[in-house]
Amino acid sequence: MATTNAPATQDKLVYDPQYILQVRDLKKYFPIKGGMMNRVVGNVKAVDGVTFNLKRGTTMGLVGESGCGKTTTGRTILRLYDTKTAGDVLFNGKEVYDLSHEELRHMRTEMQIIFQDPFSSLSPRLPIGEIIGEAVREHNLVPKAEFDDYVDEVMDQCGLQPFQKERYPHEFSGGQRQRICIARALALNPEFVVCDEPVSALDVSIQAQIINLLNELQEKRDLTYLFISHDLSVVEHISDTVGVMYLGNLVEYGAKRDIFNNPLHPYTEALFSAIPIPDPDAKMNRIVLEGSIPSPANPPEGCKFHTRCSKCMEICKHEAPCQREIEPGHFVVCHLYD
Ligand code: SF4
Repeated sequence: MATTNAPATQDKLVYDPQYILQVRDLKKYFPIKGGMMNRVVGNVKAVDGVTFNLKRGTTMGLVGESGCGKTTTGRTILRLYDTKTAGDVLFNGKEVYDLSHEELRHMRTEMQIIFQDPFSSLSPRLPIGEIIGEAVREHNLVPKAEFDDYVDEVMDQCGLQPFQKERYPHEFSGGQRQRICIARALALNPEFVVCDEPVSALDVSIQAQIINLLNELQEKRDLTYLFISHDLSVVEHISDTVGVMYLGNLVEYGAKRDIFNNPLHPYTEALFSAIPIPDPDAKMNRIVLEGSIPSPANPPEGCKFHTRCSKCMEICKHEAPCQREIEPGHFVVCHLYD
């Protein structure tokens, strides 16, 4: 049984070319200020120890209850915050937070994000051809003479008609707007895309179309996705690997079949026990979690899940467990596997 978590390791993370993204013990805290002097009196530990590797051309689903730190993890990886609190984020072997201004500008074309809300993430004042092409022009990605054809091609790949270029976002449905968001992200020809709940604001029938589009585009362009969602059936459909987050920690991750068929962490077991079984005769053994999620500003000592865990032991209350590899590629953070 290998222990792979890195909290105690300060040595440099070694680049492994099979992985487009290597994340080790990533932390992102947000200070809480208060008192007369407006001093820092605490921290919201939104991301508090996330370790995983992501292979090129694959999709990792990131799941967990809302507020568990999924979105902050995605944004910290993309360096959408100025700083991280601790840890390493290697993208194609380069530490994202060590990049110069110029290198970061270039990296912005290689790493993209698709947001949850296709309504608020599009400027209402620009026609969609401009929205999709704006960053392409800014980064001089294609010669001027080829710009229009390039935007047409990207729109076509994303299921939009080039004649719609002059229309404004309000003239489109929710599903079409999400296609516009996908086209805007892919126009920069990225290698890696964080999809942050990209279908949760859409009707179920439209969700399937968008998921299929993401799958098709991944195949055509060899894209790598970090797919953030609270919808386990969507994650099961799209992911190759799955990570489960609880209160800022990645408590389990591995191949999709291992996580869905053999969840090891008590939190993963509870989360996955709620998936409906499409068989009227099958009995669901749903595990109902008692209590609510503790505050990330004041998380419990030891294992952060111990206040809700039915298998809690004495050690869990005082000592935080390390990440262990239980079978090849299947990692869990729980004292049951020490
Ligand atoms: Fe439960 Fe202990 Fe495992 Fe935490 S470490 S999930 S409290 S058994």
